[in-house]
Amino acid sequence: MYYWYVFNNRELLVLKTAGGDYEVPCTEECPVSGESAVLDVPVGDMICKAVMLKDKADITCGEWIPARRSLDVLSANHASNAFKALEMLDWNSQTLYCGHCGTRQVLKTKISKYCPQCEVETWAKLSPAVIAVICREDEILLVKSKTVRRDCYVLISGFVELGESLEECLHREVKEETGLKIKNIRYFGSQAWPFPRNVMVGYIAEYDSGELCFQEEEIESGGWFRYDALPQIPDRISISRQLIDAWVCEREKIARSH
Ligand SMILES: [Zn+2]
Repeated sequence: MYYWYVFNNRELLVLKTAGGDYEVPCTEECPVSGESAVLDVPVGDMICKAVMLKDKADITCGEWIPARRSLDVLSANHASNAFKALEMLDWNSQTLYCGHCGTRQVLKTKISKYCPQCEVETWAKLSPAVIAVICREDEILLVKSKTVRRDCYVLISGFVELGESLEECLHREVKEETGLKIKNIRYFGSQAWPFPRNVMVGYIAEYDSGELCFQEEEIESGGWFRYDALPQIPDRISISRQLIDAWVCEREKIARSH
């Protein structure tokens, strides 16, 4: 029996249990037909299956949810597996042919591909991005992004460029997007984010100097918000929210100790 992570584009097939929880299908055979790709996904000692459908199948046994909601409705393990499955499907579809000579590549291991012409093995690549709480005493910097279509305030984030360290990237992104300098950067944690194949690396940083001047192409609006008067912020599932919650918790402790 396998756990099946079945996707249609960025939607995941889930089943509702009698108790009202959600799970993924666990069967010997693929629970749907019309797949464009099936991959083995190694998870610890076991193998799960990732399936990408050509079209949304007519399903009678379950329902489709946006893949990012996996963290809301599935157990932490299944959500993590679903993210991994989605990343592997994306990697598979983006590397059908060798980028050097155009020859069709074959799977060498479950997580690597091989070009028979170049005789080169390549592994799946992730795009690292940094994200940070920027704080100034009781306040935190939050922005509304022009590129993320969500009606909430988010943290400053950006992709690491070639030749950059994570910390250099953070300094650059903050400077470019807000005009500010930051200091005392602390590592917080990281999160796999399969939209499409990223790892988000979270930091807490302090304001150092400068006046807010938002980058027009990226940021719609934003400003400093007190920890006890925050606007609409992301769901609990994202590292963005975990960072904000951790910082709010720190400020509340400081407030209580005074
Ligand atoms: Zn090649």
